[in-house]
Amino acid sequence: MKHITRKVNLPRNVLLAALPRKEYIDLFPSLEQVSLHENQVLYEAGRPMKYAYFPEQSLISLFATLSDGKRFEIAVIVNRGFLGVSLALASRISTQLAIVQIAGSAVPMEAKAFRAAFKRGGAFQQIVLSYIKYHLLTVSQAAICNYFHQLRTRFARSLLTIHDQVGSVEFLLRPESLSRMLGVTRSEVANTVALFRRKGLIEYKQGKIKILDRKRLELIACECYRTIEATIPAKAAEHIDGDWISRRHRRRGFPALQALRINKPGLAGTPLEMPLLESQFPLVH
Ligand SMILES: [Zn+2]
Repeated sequence: MKHITRKVNLPRNVLLAALPRKEYIDLFPSLEQVSLHENQVLYEAGRPMKYAYFPEQSLISLFATLSDGKRFEIAVIVNRGFLGVSLALASRISTQLAIVQIAGSAVPMEAKAFRAAFKRGGAFQQIVLSYIKYHLLTVSQAAICNYFHQLRTRFARSLLTIHDQVGSVEFLLRPESLSRMLGVTRSEVANTVALFRRKGLIEYKQGKIKILDRKRLELIACECYRTIEATIPAKAAEHIDGDWISRRHRRRGFPALQALRINKPGLAGTPLEMPLLESQFPLVH
């Protein structure tokens, strides 16, 4: 088969970017990018999961639901994770509700292809297992956070997480999404937003939030933000091959995966020259 060279954008999902180039190319025929829209329900509790999703710019929340309909956010899935942990644990049934909170792109992977790739082992399995460990930590941290931490500190934490993910100080986040994420009423959301506006921390207009003072938000945010930041899977995944990104970034002195953090967008979208088979043309942008 004839080999050709194409410009290829690095995947904007940190876990996919951590895969060795060959493994990524082998998996790619079952992967394509999709746009997720705000409030899109990806999984419902008790229903089968057809896909795993690797967010790029989108942000997905996982909720546990009580019998009276009350929901509690138990995890946020961003570009350094994936939705569908149960698929690696040999279950196709979702135990939670998954809703898109911030619209954007994601890479879906069919459940069957995901399980086959996971069973084969290799870097994909290691990366998935590394992420599951992190995911379990974030779920237990969310339980502590919902129980012990004040609304304003949780709101500041959510703003920082979203800012990290979208890489922009301005983003769309409607009151209903905020109310869902924080597990409080719309009026409690309105009071907290008003307080943050008065303090000069944010601007809020027609569902659009603009962060004005990230440094002060970091001081206000509950400790959960720092706890989770300190254990991001990128640091563990750095030791896994990730050959097609490390070559360039290590030479520049960047740890391979830290360079892909979405709040450094200049690096996240850097096209690389790499040899490709003609049959893998879908990789070309
Ligand atoms: Zn907290």
